Formats: sequence, structure tokens, C-alpha cells
Amino acid sequence: MSSFQTSPGMRDILPPESSRWRAFTQVFADVVEAAGYQQLITPLLEDLGVFTRIGDATDVVTKEMYDFVDKGDRRVALRPEQTASVCRSFAQHRPVTPWKVFYSGPNFRYERPQRGRYRQFDQVGIEVLGVDDPMLDVEVIALAWEFYEQLGLQQVSLIINSLGEPDDRSRYVEALRTHFVAAGDALTEQSRTTLAKNPLRVLDSKREPDAPFIASAPQIADFYSDEAAAHFDAVQAGLRALDIPFTLEPKLVRGLDYYRRTIFEFQGGTLDSAQNALGGGGRYDGLVEALGGPATSGIGFALGVDRTLLACDDEGVFGAEPRDLDAFVVDVVGGIEAVKLTAELRQAGFAADRGYDNRSMKAQMKLANRSNAAVAVIVGEDELDAKTVVVKPMRGGDQQTIPRSELIAHLSRTLSQESGNHD
Ligand code: AMP
Repeated sequence: MSSFQTSPGMRDILPPESSRWRAFTQVFADVVEAAGYQQLITPLLEDLGVFTRIGDATDVVTKEMYDFVDKGDRRVALRPEQTASVCRSFAQHRPVTPWKVFYSGPNFRYERPQRGRYRQFDQVGIEVLGVDDPMLDVEVIALAWEFYEQLGLQQVSLIINSLGEPDDRSRYVEALRTHFVAAGDALTEQSRTTLAKNPLRVLDSKREPDAPFIASAPQIADFYSDEAAAHFDAVQAGLRALDIPFTLEPKLVRGLDYYRRTIFEFQGGTLDSAQNALGGGGRYDGLVEALGGPATSGIGFALGVDRTLLACDDEGVFGAEPRDLDAFVVDVVGGIEAVKLTAELRQAGFAADRGYDNRSMKAQMKLANRSNAAVAVIVGEDELDAKTVVVKPMRGGDQQTIPRSELIAHLSRTLSQESGNHD
């Protein structure tokens, strides 16, 4: 008989970790919905072209994509990220602007799996289309910051940069190219390959021999137009006004060709440096146009769920908390009475589970204990005859025999008292 395992880089999220995932996306939705963002759900699978447009000089698109030909001979891909899908959706449906949306869900990249790096990983994110105002950049960054705060993370740092206007960036890229070409063979072979495709990405190299050339490279700030400089100044002033600490990082580039003006990244304080990027984003231009829509400016971020939860583990915050049960029905009679009683409890709004298979009282009490229910409700022969039930508090206190007809009222009274005591 064959036995199966998850594919490399893919994993099951088991309970109780799964409830933490749900809580995570719920906290995120609460934060961004309160700022006027609405959820957009796009397909996991898109026309391959949707992603090749986002930049063919990136590994994400050239090496890591799960692309294939479907049964209708279409070239499709599992999405490696969601910004392109959002822009495709905007171009297709032409909603009124500003269009403020959020998303959550899995992406796929054929990467080398390691801690914090998976082939299927989740992101939550927002995108806004149709607004140029630098105060929107501030809002977008502030929402991510607020989200990290709600999770309880304290060691997240924000780094920002501006890539200027597309013209500024082009002139900068040429200056970089000249600079790195002059380094010749002293540059690592990987960086020389990167240089041919996208000189900006050479700044990302962490390889030792490249370090002196990166340190002496031209600075983007020297290439800003007045407009780009004013935009970036306004963003920084906004962040200061909101008391959001940030570090300027002139070497932050983020890969995609479409980025311009503000770009940013959030780094965790506890993860290895290769995996310390918890999320990032920025302004992009031309993506909607490239996907068949009108010229529209965009900005957004994507935060990695897997990695952010690892950071939460490391900081000991936002733990897994499965929902506690109110009642566990111990059925030592067998038959319909426990079915009715459990249904009644659930209809009255209590979270209730029960024992099955007529197992012994002892075995079922063990289950009741493990379920973390506040009370066990025991249905036995004597109680059935007397139209009573036994209610046993599981976190201390004496058990009581009460009339069956008063069970709901009794639990409403005692359990609300108990939750009151917890507050
Ligand atoms: P990116 O779309 O590459 O800017 O990534 C945004 C965030 O998604 C990163 O900061 C990570 O937190 C997360 N992320 C990207 N790739 C992976 C991956 N292969 N596994 C887990 N998380 C990832």
C-alpha cells in the first residue's frame, strides 16, 4: 500500500495552529476594513501572461513559477503573488477609483524549502488603485504597522526608500550599470548575470566580494526629480506625525520593474537574515496598463503569514487559542436523549461536544477534560428516569443534579458568571 506525504515545501496546518491562522486573517481584516478596504477574492490560477508582465527579470517569474498548459491548451500559472491578480481584476472590471481592496490566501513559488520559506505560503495584503497622494503611502504603511501592533509584535522594523519617478529610476539604473560594469570580473558571477538583466538587483547581493562595489555605488537620492523628492519628504513627514519609526535604506530596491516612488519593507528582529523580511510593498505604475487597463497608479503591500507567525512564536505573542467548549455531554445511557440535549445546548448558543460509542463514564470524563469544556453534563440511567442531569464544573466546584428542564437557564447563569470572573 502506498502512503503519501505533503509535497516538499508544502505543509498541513493542523489544529490548534489552524485556529491561529484564522484569527490572524481576522485581525488583519478587522484592521483594514476599519480603514475602508474591502475584500477581493481572485482565482489561484491565472493566465501566465498576468505574471510575466510583472517583470521577467525576477526569479519569482523566471524560475519559480508553477506554470503549465491546461487541458484547453492555455498557458496558466498558480499565482506567485497577488498584486498582479488585483491589477488584472481592476483592468477587467474597471471599478471606480480609489479602489481599496484587501486579500488573503496562498501563493506558490518553486523555491528551495527551508524554515520560513515554503513552496505554498500565505499572504495578506492590501492594494489601492487610482490615488497619487503621498498621504495614502502613509496610510498604507501605518495599517501594516497597526496590524503588527495588534498581533503584539514589538521587534518589527520598517525600512523605506524611494525609487523616484520612472525617468529618475532609468537614469539611476544606467549609472548603476556603468558603475558595476567598471568593476568587471571582481564582481561575483551571479551578480554579473543579474547586472545584465537588472542592475538594481545587484544591490540585493549579500555576497562578500560584491560588498565594496555596492558600498561605493551611486545613490538613488541623487537622481530624484523635484516631484519625487517632494513626495518622499511628505511620506516621511506623515510617518513622523504618526510616530512610526523608520530607517531610510537607499539600497532597498525590491525586484519588480514596476515599482516607483515609495517602497518599504518590514523586518522581524528574531528571524535569520535570509528570512527576516516579514512583508513589503510600494508604489507601482504601469501594471494596470500592462494588463490592459487605463494608466492607473497603485500602491500596496503583502505580508507573509507563515513568516509573521514564526516571528510571533519567537516573540511569544499571538499564541494558538482554540475555542473553548462550554459543555461536554457525557452519555452513559446511549440513544436519543444525549442527541437531543446536545442539539438543545448548541441551539441555545453554547459550544457543546459529546462522547460517543457508549464508552465508559471514566473514558468520557477524560474526553470532557481534554476538550477543555467548562462543564460536563452527564446523562445517566437514574437521571433519565428522574428527568434530571448532573452538571459537573470541570475547573473546580461541586457537581449538581438539576432538573432537565432547567439546564439551559442554569448554564446561562453559571457560565456567564464564570466568563465574567475571567474578565
Ligand atoms: P514578496 O511578494 O516577495 O515581496 O514577499 C512578501 C512577503 O511574503 C515576504 O516578506 C515573506 O514574508 C513572504 N514570502 C515570500 N516568499 C515566501 C516563501 N517562499 N515562503 C514563505 N513566505 C514567503
